[in-house]
Amino acid sequence: MKVDSFVDFYEDLKLKVDEELKNNISNSTAAVENTDCTSKKSLLEAVKSYSNILNSHARTGIVHYIRFGEILLKLKLLYWRRCEDCKNEESLEYISCKRCSQISDSKDFFDDVYKVYPYKSSYINFIIRIYRLGHQYHKFKYIPLSVSVIIHHIGNLEKKMANDKDFWCLNVR
Ligand SMILES: [Zn+2]
Repeated sequence: MKVDSFVDFYEDLKLKVDEELKNNISNSTAAVENTDCTSKKSLLEAVKSYSNILNSHARTGIVHYIRFGEILLKLKLLYWRRCEDCKNEESLEYISCKRCSQISDSKDFFDDVYKVYPYKSSYINFIIRIYRLGHQYHKFKYIPLSVSVIIHHIGNLEKKMANDKDFWCLNVR
């Protein structure tokens, strides 16, 4: 997509998000599986039940992917080790660090997930990015786009949203 057409797409998206926010306040509290588990075993079980939820609904809201991404992230962190540079990093940026990745059991993480949710590592990381956007920006939950559309724009969206925090972080009034 050319820069100009992404800008149009993005501006249109913001209008739709506000519209969605007005009409669909309950969206953010959609009932989903319990995400309080903390062991590899229980988190992998949660991944498995999510894969069933996501497969059984043709149109599954972004909220489900945000919760799913949270589970995947919690699980990934159990396989993750921090490199020297990231030892004191407070933000979650270290989850994208290549040096951390090299000393972590990333392959085991993706292999274990694959057994219950057979998707490529890039897609698993994409769902984690969805969670991070939803966690960081309140209004992201109201994006009326399917995951298959978001995946094409995720990089541009992350950049735009970071520069447009006032819009995305605004709470429901
Ligand atoms: Zn690192």
